[in-house]
Amino acid sequence: MIEPGTGFPTDRADATTPVARSAAEVERLAASAPTLDRVDARSSVCRTCPRLVAWREEVAANPRASFAGEQYWGRPITGWGDPKPRIVVVGLAPAAHGGNRTGRIFTGDRSGDWLFAALHRAGLARQPTSVSAYDDQELLHTRITLPVRCAPPANKPTPAERDACAPWLHQELRFLLPTAKAFVVLGGFGWTSTWSALRAAGAAVPARTPAFGHGVQVELDSGQAVIGCYHVSQQNTFTGRLTEAMLDDVFLAARRASGLVE
Ligand code: SF4
Repeated sequence: MIEPGTGFPTDRADATTPVARSAAEVERLAASAPTLDRVDARSSVCRTCPRLVAWREEVAANPRASFAGEQYWGRPITGWGDPKPRIVVVGLAPAAHGGNRTGRIFTGDRSGDWLFAALHRAGLARQPTSVSAYDDQELLHTRITLPVRCAPPANKPTPAERDACAPWLHQELRFLLPTAKAFVVLGGFGWTSTWSALRAAGAAVPARTPAFGHGVQVELDSGQAVIGCYHVSQQNTFTGRLTEAMLDDVFLAARRASGLVE
């Protein structure tokens, strides 16, 4: 595991960063975080969910053979990208040997291969691949974030873990709402979490959460758009449920909604 404040590229925390150990502490530390950087720092040292803390650290201590010798991040993953984005992409949770290894969201796994290639085709990422926090990848006008920040066993967080983690995303969105014009939400889990987070962050959203579907686009009174997209998981990309063309259409819609293209 990478210790806070030891110089890792995406690390915003240090030894003095307060550590949340309960849902109530997540609420307090998230709501009082004065900047986006502080949200990132505080969430990256969180130890609230015992099952997820144990899993992320066990995986980090036992690398896959193909990653033998690598020091895994082994901590919660924060949002990453432009701090004043026009487009916000919301996923689900980090992968055990992806973000949990590389310390950067969607970096170093097959889902990320799809996502970053699509962002690059859309002009929203400098490079088509993202393999390490030490590469030169950069998101353009875009930030990626997630509702559950620790890698869950079988990629399935429990409802209690989802609820415990939610305040981090709520506070993050408070800082992103002033500039964000489009939210691209990957999968039904992220869809539900995003609507809750938008509501908590103060956005005027419909009383009833709209139904999730690929390509569904909901316009808020503020002019911001929330766009549904099948998750870039291998379950969808290997089976053809989600194709490159479908992903490209979603990011074209997001670029239009955010004024990056007519
Ligand atoms: S999932 Fe969220 S609330 Fe739970 S330990 Fe990780 S960062 Fe903390």
